[in-house]
Amino acid sequence: MTAKIISGRDVAEKILTTNLRERVELLKSKKITPKLVVVLVGEMKASASYVAQKEKFAGKAGILSEVMRFDNTITEEEILKQIENINADKSIHGVIVQLPLPEHISVAKVLNAIDPLKDVDGFTPNNVGKLFLGEDTLVSCTPKGIMSMLDSIDIDLTGKNVTVIGRSNIVGKPVSILCQQKNATVTMCHSKTKDLNAKLADADVIIVAAGVPKFISGDQIPEGAIVIDVGIHNIDGKLCGDVEFESACEKASAITPVPGGVGPMTVCALIENTIIAAERS
Ligand code: NAP
Repeated sequence: MTAKIISGRDVAEKILTTNLRERVELLKSKKITPKLVVVLVGEMKASASYVAQKEKFAGKAGILSEVMRFDNTITEEEILKQIENINADKSIHGVIVQLPLPEHISVAKVLNAIDPLKDVDGFTPNNVGKLFLGEDTLVSCTPKGIMSMLDSIDIDLTGKNVTVIGRSNIVGKPVSILCQQKNATVTMCHSKTKDLNAKLADADVIIVAAGVPKFISGDQIPEGAIVIDVGIHNIDGKLCGDVEFESACEKASAITPVPGGVGPMTVCALIENTIIAAERS
């Protein structure tokens, strides 16, 4: 079998042109221009590149975006004060704090300080709790983007076996909840899982977010499974995912590439969340 490639770039472009731009125009006709603020602390090269992608997509959607850059030496108190100011600013509809943060700043404290109505990354306890309860909320971007990719290939998850590798708060846990809400039977795997191959053997969909380069190869993938590769790694200047792409293509019926897969969909979901936050304001 040669897998169909699910291009995140194409799906994101389609959502942009058939949905997001129209919603932004409608908001603008009501004198509301959605605005996203990205808080960036320090000079991490990877963070700067992600931020640039977010700014570019925001521009394509017609929304405003601003990057607030702070030196590595900023104190926790100062950054919390900045978040307070952003929360109070009615012209700002969405805010994200680009992770990682320097070690002297508590990620939990900073995320908890964000107004849940402006939490377009969907990381605050309030929004995570609502997601868990199945309530309408701002869903975190990577899981939301993954679900849009699955929608794009018209798969009905009802009764399907979904195996998720990774249980992080930003990918593994929320995507497993979203798949359950679509009536899938979800198996969650992590570093203590025994016999991972057995958990993959009857999977219809495999979502890999382990953070280990080329961790899953074709011989572990059942014939015809759909593979979503969340991982992103730079190995000697070349990008790869958590899945060994070439061998996986021989077994999967559909697969996301790296780059150009989940990454662009994460950015697209962030911009959609900012539009949702503006629509609710
Ligand atoms: P993370 O916080 O490091 O979590 C990794 C998870 O994988 C953990 O739950 C860990 O288990 C599990 N794991 C690690 N080694 C394993 C093994 N040998 N067998 C089974 N499970 C194993 O990672 P993350 O933040 O979810 O990100 C995962 C990957 O996705 C990274 O490469 C990251 O860069 C990428 N990512 C990409 C995007 C995007 O937009 N494209 C967005 C987010 C993340 P334990 O819990 O037991 O430690």
